[in-house]
Amino acid sequence: MHNRASSGVSGGRVADDWYAGGADCGGRPAFRVAAYNDDFFILRQPACTNYEKPFLYLIFGRDRALLFDTGAPTIDVATPVDTLIRRWAAQHGKASLGLVVAHSHAHSDHVAGDSQFVKRPGTTVVGRDTASVRAFFGIARWPTDMSTIDLGDRILDVIPIPGHQPASIALYDRRTGVMLTGDTFYPGRLYVRDTAAFAVSIDRLARFVRGQDVRHLLGAHVEQSKTPYVDYPVGTKDQPNEHGLDLTTAQLFELDSAVQSMRGRFRRVLLRDVTIWPQ
Ligand SMILES: [Zn+2]
Ligand SMILES: [Zn+2]
Repeated sequence: MHNRASSGVSGGRVADDWYAGGADCGGRPAFRVAAYNDDFFILRQPACTNYEKPFLYLIFGRDRALLFDTGAPTIDVATPVDTLIRRWAAQHGKASLGLVVAHSHAHSDHVAGDSQFVKRPGTTVVGRDTASVRAFFGIARWPTDMSTIDLGDRILDVIPIPGHQPASIALYDRRTGVMLTGDTFYPGRLYVRDTAAFAVSIDRLARFVRGQDVRHLLGAHVEQSKTPYVDYPVGTKDQPNEHGLDLTTAQLFELDSAVQSMRGRFRRVLLRDVTIWPQ
């Protein structure tokens, strides 16, 4: 995969296979954890705890880490996150490290673990509603303005993308060129609640991506199978032949074209790796 690239972006690797196990986890449910690189971790909730089996992301800066989403009911997420933070802090000679807990959006399968972080020392849990997200990231005009958060020598761009849910955001990590897109763009069913907002948001994302060195677009679920145009039905736990996690800018541009060509008259459209699914 990519190692250190000429542009100065830090390389990393997205595992090809993120199999989340089946319905039975033998009574010991645990997140799958893999390093994208030394400062960026991907966590996946096991299927036995929730068929949504969402992905969470933990990104380290010099001064604090950012956890993007806290998972679906019900699993211990604080322990694996604490372990990763403690290990990183020790490797970097730090006694402690701040933590920001933010969300791709407010749906229950991405915020269920929030309560496990509320009393954690040095931790800020960002509120789930749009007003809280705006206030925390300092976004004056929602959703047209963008913002940034600096974790200490590591700047993430914050891009409002309402449509799937009103408080949806994407994050772009300038250090790795990874963009996190939540439930707005991932290999599966892109449920669209507000079609007008979604169309503008996908266009905003596509325009942002055209001006950046984007290496991977990583969402919060995988519902697609490896077979083009075929997804696993809602509620499927065991997905042995599932699509990879990462999507490319070409796939985002394909989505943008499909969305814009509907000119506001949304209908269900199957693309090779995603389905546009108005609700
Ligand atoms: Zn959602
Ligand atoms: Zn979701």
